Amino acid sequence: MTKGFADLHNHQFANLGFGGLAFWGSPAGPVAAALPWCTPAHGPGGLGDVIGNLIKTMYGSTPFGHHVGGNPEFDGWPRWDSVTHQSVHIDWLQRAWEGGLRLMVMLAVNNEHLAGLANRAPGRSPDDMEAVDLQLQAAVSLEAAVDDASGGPGMGWYRIVRTPAEARRVIDQGKLAVVLGIEVDYPFQSKPGGPVSEASVRDAVGRYHTAGVRHLFPLHFADNALGGAGFQNALEIAVDGSAADPRVNFGSLGVYGMTTEDGTASGYEYRTGRRNSAGLSDVGLALLHSLMAYGMVIDVDHMSQRSRSQTLDLVERYQYPVVSGHSGFIDICHGAKRHEGQLTGAEIERIYSGGGLVAPIIRQGDRDEVDTWRGAGTVIEHVQGTGLPVRGRESRGRRGRAGHGFQWLRRASAAQVRTGRCGGGRWRIGARRGGLSVHRRLDGQADGSQRHRSADIRHQRGQPRARRHAPGLDRRRAVAGSDRGRTRPATGLSGRLCD
Ligand SMILES: [Zn+2]
Ligand SMILES: [Zn+2]
Repeated sequence: MTKGFADLHNHQFANLGFGGLAFWGSPAGPVAAALPWCTPAHGPGGLGDVIGNLIKTMYGSTPFGHHVGGNPEFDGWPRWDSVTHQSVHIDWLQRAWEGGLRLMVMLAVNNEHLAGLANRAPGRSPDDMEAVDLQLQAAVSLEAAVDDASGGPGMGWYRIVRTPAEARRVIDQGKLAVVLGIEVDYPFQSKPGGPVSEASVRDAVGRYHTAGVRHLFPLHFADNALGGAGFQNALEIAVDGSAADPRVNFGSLGVYGMTTEDGTASGYEYRTGRRNSAGLSDVGLALLHSLMAYGMVIDVDHMSQRSRSQTLDLVERYQYPVVSGHSGFIDICHGAKRHEGQLTGAEIERIYSGGGLVAPIIRQGDRDEVDTWRGAGTVIEHVQGTGLPVRGRESRGRRGRAGHGFQWLRRASAAQVRTGRCGGGRWRIGARRGGLSVHRRLDGQADGSQRHRSADIRHQRGQPRARRHAPGLDRRRAVAGSDRGRTRPATGLSGRLCD
């Protein structure tokens, strides 16, 4: 049986995004050279960390710098509330691998607006695809470097995989399967008004598939020529009539205009509960068709609710599973965290029913921000999405309200939950705390002495219905971190959080 746990969202080469100087620290090479103090990029006391300070401001924390110590003190970073310092150096990743990490989705990342604000390395531009290409190439180089250190080509433990069979083989060898992906605002030059077309995205999907990419976010922070993005952070500004209400754009940095509409019926409360009224364009639909044709993983995070709904409408026709690789759940969020970037219960149901996969962001933060589900031996603590843990404190807990909102959990009987096996070779979710990937190794032996906390939705929902398997489906599942087979593990919402 194939065993391990998966991190579905990792920006190992973010140091090459954002103009090449904003995110500090290389994931490769000797630690002393790769992870020195960050002052050359972030300035004395981290005061020049433009993006880090901006992001802290966006999430309500003090933006005034940070300890700069990387090697040898490491008194400044890596740490759980920093997103602008390397946290996936190869030595650290190796430890995660030794601890059981068997699949990692390495997403090339960028944001042209933030890159435009930061100092850039010589010769670099803010361009999304420039940053993507550099990060994809760097992953290939890192694979070769690990090979060199391990005795030659193919000998290393860091293996970029392109098919499910390859992933399974690598994992069965006890190595790390690395899936390459892209998460930027304008994939394949899809800036609004740009040269993108249905033909050009088809061509681009083919080229990047050849380059090894298997996981793609059609949307990120901004509306693009493919569709509408989730109304979920301070970069966005409502440009419709609702903007007259000062609460709607309070705190907005005004970078990405969006036409919004009332979304309170979905439970949204962020900035009076607005949601983006834009859905997918024809070019966006063409992109999805191409991704399906190549058997690539479609990540539905960062989509507007309409874009996500249209995506699900489409993939359901083809029984094609999708992934939500770094999500949160609207039902257990509070206040401004209840935004379009979180999944509603209905969306989770659809992803689950399609054989897809949901990996929640687990973050250290304020327990007052989320509800804690305590029922029938099942606990989900601190499930939170797309926010950054900047307050730096953990307050003692508000317990789950009577109306905790986890309606989709209630169908489980207590007995079902208690017998939900935690482990047994299923995939575990590599959660994230701030910028640092955290991988909880889950002990499959529920021996009674171990406090056992599980959110095994699969068990609560029973076995998924059988479905026809289209050619290529097997590959998609494996690449998505699922393990198809007799036990059909971890498809559906796999918020399996145990310790
Ligand atoms: Zn720094
Ligand atoms: Zn993201």
